[in-house]
Amino acid sequence: RAKQAGYSYAYFNVAHDRRNPHDIEKTAALHHAIERGELQVYYQPVVTASDHRLIGHEALVRWNRPGGMVSPAEFIPLAEATGQILNIGAFVLRQAALDAHTRRIGRVSVNVSAREFEQPGYAEQVRAVLEETGVDPDLLVLEITESSLLNAERAGAVLNDLRSLGVRLALDDFGTGYSSLGAMSSLPVQILKIDRSFTRDLGREGPAGTRALEVIRAIVTLAGAMEVLTVAEGVETPLQAALLREVRCTFLQGFLFGRPAPLPALD
Ligand code: C2E
Ligand code: CA
Ligand code: CA
Ligand code: CA
Repeated sequence: RAKQAGYSYAYFNVAHDRRNPHDIEKTAALHHAIERGELQVYYQPVVTASDHRLIGHEALVRWNRPGGMVSPAEFIPLAEATGQILNIGAFVLRQAALDAHTRRIGRVSVNVSAREFEQPGYAEQVRAVLEETGVDPDLLVLEITESSLLNAERAGAVLNDLRSLGVRLALDDFGTGYSSLGAMSSLPVQILKIDRSFTRDLGREGPAGTRALEVIRAIVTLAGAMEVLTVAEGVETPLQAALLREVRCTFLQGFLFGRPAPLPALD
């Protein structure tokens, strides 16, 4: 353990000497995790809002550390700061593409961090993965966040390149940033993912519940006018699912329908 921490200093000191020792140690551990294959892709089901039919899954990375499972909330931000997200993202995309191709799990959504999206040649990398795995591009969805779209002109060009590969594009965590549906309407995005912070209040008694319902209704209505499909994240109760169906959200995702889990092993 001590030896590993020492190694981490030697290896990462140059670029990240302002970070705290805990992060430096975790960065080194993550570096080993990638090399040792400790990262694993979990899948969470996505269903239709109308009749809860399974249509696909979201790929969510996990770090299966010897000491226990580490949540991406704990290492993705760090991996973004160090650039390790580029390796992680490439691993998840390839695995998700392979699983979509060989495991009959429907459409698979993959999270793309801003750092990956901004990388020169990102669309070319995706093209190479499609070619290598042989997956039908129609089975892949790339989830982009608003922070990837800050440079609107360049983002539009990359989105168009990705779209021309045949993959679908989703705007993740919609409603948490500053972009408007209007700004979004010029982008080649097919799916909006309504952030869990809205779903969470849905079905609550009182003003918070009412407001959440009206906000979601407005998002779904405008998305519909733009011919964009909607996914509500974080659906946990039958009441939330019923309300989302009522406002005509297209798809639902959340613990009510299944937690992220590894695919069953092949014999
Ligand atoms: P996200 O993309 O918004 O993913 C949805 C998160 O909500 C997941 O957390 C999922 O487990 C959780 N979730 C789903 N349904 C429910 C629910 O009903 N209730 C609650 N309380 N939570 C629910 P997870 O897997 O911990 O991932 C957290 C974030 O880490 C993701 O948020 C995404 O931003 C990032 N992430 C995960 N995997 C990857 C990856 O492969 N690449 C990149 N760049 N980011 C990833
Ligand atoms: Ca996501
Ligand atoms: Ca999300
Ligand atoms: Ca989220």
